[in-house]
Amino acid sequence: MEYRRLGSSGLKLSALSFGAWTTFGRQVDQRAAREMLAYAHAQGINFFDNAEVYAHGVAEELMGAALHELALPRDSYCVSSKAYFGRLPDPAPTQHGLSRKHLTDACHQALRRLRVDYLDLYYCHRPDEDTPVAEIVPTMDTLVRQGKVLYWGTSEWPTVLINAAAEFARAHHLIGPQMEQPQYNLLHRERVEQEYAPLYDSLGLGITTWSPLASGLLTGKYTAEVPADSRLGQSDNAWLREAVLDAEGGAHARRAAALPALARTFGCSPAQLAIAWCLKNPHVSTVILGASRITQLEENLGALAVAQRLDQGAWQQVEQTFTTS
Ligand code: NDP
Repeated sequence: MEYRRLGSSGLKLSALSFGAWTTFGRQVDQRAAREMLAYAHAQGINFFDNAEVYAHGVAEELMGAALHELALPRDSYCVSSKAYFGRLPDPAPTQHGLSRKHLTDACHQALRRLRVDYLDLYYCHRPDEDTPVAEIVPTMDTLVRQGKVLYWGTSEWPTVLINAAAEFARAHHLIGPQMEQPQYNLLHRERVEQEYAPLYDSLGLGITTWSPLASGLLTGKYTAEVPADSRLGQSDNAWLREAVLDAEGGAHARRAAALPALARTFGCSPAQLAIAWCLKNPHVSTVILGASRITQLEENLGALAVAQRLDQGAWQQVEQTFTTS
């Protein structure tokens, strides 16, 4: 396993990490969760990502129970939570957004569900236009000083707001945001490569990126049909199926269809090539993997070797294929 600093912080995360969205508590039961976490940890993965909203809190409960059963040393892994959405479908007004009230309650609830004394990483899951940074930053600073959180950050915030939070923190001698959690894959790259570009140096921002396979589209599994046992085949994921398969009028799906042939020429799987492509960006602190079964994790971990093996010429071929197809 390769380890990378979380931006300018001293924390070293595994370059590949493992998250629970749409799987834990939905496609993955506690036993499978435990097996995948044990396998991931044994392979050197040291960061497990979660959020209050995943499976209405059940994803955190499952991860907490599995970590408890495995009795992994607490200092050998990092765990996260993210707050904003509340526990859908119908959170009360106090149970949603980034108010001091919700950020604090959601932190306490995540600690209980995950069965840990502190969260290594805690994110503001989306921007909240109703809560000023003058409320968010001191709340996160307090949670860090209380020892309930080690590093705090944002997810899918615009640069202007990240800068505003960092500036407020600096001006008031508070602990500012250390990381962002954006989507990053071959089909979705503008924010990480362009919008955030100034922040890596100016703020020392680390990024923990999500959906490296665009929910599976970049594995080639959706080229002919939607398999019933896949994420996009789940009846309660109709919104996601539409968002992924119809993105940009189907252009994403057409571009993804070129990946399997290209991967074959490089002697790897499409998933490995897509994940390796994320890894070759040095600003990426960790690529968060998703998996519904252990064989996917086994395959996807092979991306580390692919990232090391492929040369500049190979990556140029990938770029060309994706910009012209
Ligand atoms: P991916 O885009 O990699 O999608 C993962 C899914 O793709 C798996 O659950 C599986 O679904 C399928 N898959 C994975 N590997 C393979 C393979 N080798 N062959 C075939 N199918 C495969 O990642 P996620 O979208 O899950 O994102 C990763 C993590 O990022 C999440 O778990 C979550 O922690 C975080 N995240 C954060 C968000 C945020 O807003 N901050 C938003 C979304 C995710 P299946 O088998 O069911 O088809």
